[in-house]
Amino acid sequence: MVGAGPAGLIASQYLVRAGYKVSIIEEHKSIGRPVSCSGLIGRDFFDHFKQFDFEDSIKNRIDGAKIFLGTDSFELKRKGVSFVVDRAIFDQSLSNGLEVSLDEKFQAFERKNETIFVKTNKRRFNTDLLIGADGPSSRVRAQEFEFNLKHYKGYQVRIKSDLDLDNFVEVHIQRPFFTWIIPEGNGIFRIGTVSNNPKETLGRFLEEREIKSEPIEIQAGVIPVGKGNIYSDKVFLLGDAACQVKPLSGGGVYYGALAAEALANSIISGRYSDYPLQCNKLLGKEISRGLIFRRTYENMTDNEIYKVFNFLKSKKQVLDDSGKFDEHSRTILSLIKDHRSISFLPLIFKAYLRTL
Ligand SMILES: Cc1cc2nc3c(=O)[nH]c(=O)nc-3n(C[C@H](O)[C@H](O)[C@H](O)COP(=O)(O)OP(=O)(O)OC[C@H]3O[C@@H](n4cnc5c(N)ncnc54)[C@H](O)[C@@H]3O)c2cc1C
Repeated sequence: MVGAGPAGLIASQYLVRAGYKVSIIEEHKSIGRPVSCSGLIGRDFFDHFKQFDFEDSIKNRIDGAKIFLGTDSFELKRKGVSFVVDRAIFDQSLSNGLEVSLDEKFQAFERKNETIFVKTNKRRFNTDLLIGADGPSSRVRAQEFEFNLKHYKGYQVRIKSDLDLDNFVEVHIQRPFFTWIIPEGNGIFRIGTVSNNPKETLGRFLEEREIKSEPIEIQAGVIPVGKGNIYSDKVFLLGDAACQVKPLSGGGVYYGALAAEALANSIISGRYSDYPLQCNKLLGKEISRGLIFRRTYENMTDNEIYKVFNFLKSKKQVLDDSGKFDEHSRTILSLIKDHRSISFLPLIFKAYLRTL
């Protein structure tokens, strides 16, 4: 297993519990650090992965979102829709009982007959199966896999402030993604954005909001958005390495964890090629449609974005009742299917056509 992030650790937990010997190599000196994540994880994740203990990592409960376009806004409410975690503690709790070789960097692999030879900065060893759970800039992926993907740059600060958000996150629509404010608790906020120059974009945002305090911590990372092959002759890609992220928000912990479970099951059953099939069943539609919605979103004019925002605002009740934190495209489709949305469809279609 290359990479001791949540995806690699969850797959390893299942495999070790089933009696497999898993060698996990991690390039950093400690698990979960440096953090490059906002740590906002939907309730469905915690309901699904009940067998792991995340209690120590949970910092705050989120009860909804305030969505902004400029100064205009509307509020969506759902008690306990998601939780804010300390990603370092979260990852460390997933490593309980596992042996991880730290400070060891995967460099390359080679196949000879039935065996896979792995080269790291410290040694060479052989293995029957290789899993690349080595994050957004996966070396395992780069060596052999065909992928159509784009990397988006994210930048976030943790800051002490007297912002009055209670348990709500703020989402400021700002393409290609959005700018977020997440209350971590104890007067600390995680404020971040994604853009070509996210540090500069965030600086401007903080200035406009007159948020002046010095950051307690700065976190940066990339989000891989795209699609490709995730299995080839006993070598698997998992998590961010496999672009198992929500294309609209970039959140990847839940999708990577679902894929980790599917991967462990396919290895335990001995049917390795089930893995891509299962992932397609679990995540395929959300990711494919999410990619279309992302391209459409990026190609909209400001005026179209304004109309979409007002449309969403008018559908606040539908979003409150049936919006899904981890299934964006299903949420969008249920909005579009509403007969009152017919007049709105040509706008989306026009923006979509511009992406072709
Ligand atoms: C700014 C930002 C904010 C985000 N916010 C959220 C959020 O709020 N919620 C959410 O769900 N997702 C969020 N994400 C995405 C989330 O962080 C990832 O989807 C998630 O961490 C993927 O888990 P993973 O295990 O696949 O990969 P990672 O967590 O990236 O783990 C991969 C591991 O592999 C190791 N590694 C890499 N290369 C090598 C190598 N050559 N040899 C050995 N080890 C190696 C790395 O050190 C790392 O520990 C965010 C991402 C960014 C950039």
